[in-house]
Amino acid sequence: MDYGITLTEIETARENISGTVVRTPTVPSLSLTRHAGVPVSLKLEHTQVTGSFKLRGAANALASLSEAARTKGVVAVSTGNHGRAVAHAAKVAGVKAVICLSELVPANKVDAIRALGAEVHITGRSQDEAEKEAMRLEREGMTFISPFDHKDVIAGQGTLGLEMLEDMPEVKNVVVPLSGGGLLSGIALAIKARRPDVRLIGVTMSRGAAMYESLKAGHPVEVEEVESLADSLGGGIGLENRYTFAIVRDLVERCLLVEEDELAEAISHAYREEQQVLEGGAAAGIAALLSGRLKPDGPTLLVLSGRNLDMDQHCRLVCGGGAAAKEASNA
Ligand SMILES: *Cc1c(COP(=O)(O)O)cnc(C)c1O
Repeated sequence: MDYGITLTEIETARENISGTVVRTPTVPSLSLTRHAGVPVSLKLEHTQVTGSFKLRGAANALASLSEAARTKGVVAVSTGNHGRAVAHAAKVAGVKAVICLSELVPANKVDAIRALGAEVHITGRSQDEAEKEAMRLEREGMTFISPFDHKDVIAGQGTLGLEMLEDMPEVKNVVVPLSGGGLLSGIALAIKARRPDVRLIGVTMSRGAAMYESLKAGHPVEVEEVESLADSLGGGIGLENRYTFAIVRDLVERCLLVEEDELAEAISHAYREEQQVLEGGAAAGIAALLSGRLKPDGPTLLVLSGRNLDMDQHCRLVCGGGAAAKEASNA
């Protein structure tokens, strides 16, 4: 099947981004191996520059611009990891970046994006209004970079798949947090091209799971956005989805849902057992394993995708769990 993105493009992406991203480690998890009864390893992509894998896609999109497009600059709409990634990748590439945000975005997030060197346009009181501003800038000649449904972004995320096969050649199951599906699509294309026997599993939160509902419906659908610990997994897949819906539908073995308390438990587990700080979305794979929703039958690799969360919130999550656990062990 031709999905518009080839293994060669993913290999080229790896060369394109090698100066901007770090090659993150894969480490065996003794605690999760014990829990699952099969070897479990973790791809520590939350330790990526800017705190998430999104830098891979953004850096590849920047590297793939024509000379004319470079002079006009790039535009993105994102309050979170994609905004940070585009801002940083553009700065490294010496290209102007505009990040469009609504008035509702908290000042600390706006400051974080400005600090990475991007221009911030604040318009209206919703994400939709911010998108309109981005579309206006696109009409004026800037290149719009979607966080997931973009060829170069997907190829960039696919570089993770190449690294994971090198690090764990015996792998049978790869577990990936899922929202718009750029991460899962890229990894699936890279892995299936080389190892069709490896199974891909997407995990998302049960609150507002756009790709899950779209797969069930057989076409992209809109879901209501609800607050979740996994805020980086929120948002739709786009009714005009061009790439990720078909790739996830065809190449992914199954998609699982996890609950909020399972995400909280997973964040706490990552901190206490693995000494890793994870944001909610990044802990989805661990939540699937710990809750027993996923019972893998062979060597399993989980992608830990990001670590950008409010550290006071993290503190409350891991300390809350700790106090409860201590009480239980004293009883
Ligand atoms: C964006 C993001 C995801 C989901 O990636 P998609 O390509 O939208 O599926 C998962 N985890 C983190 C930390 C993210 O920032």
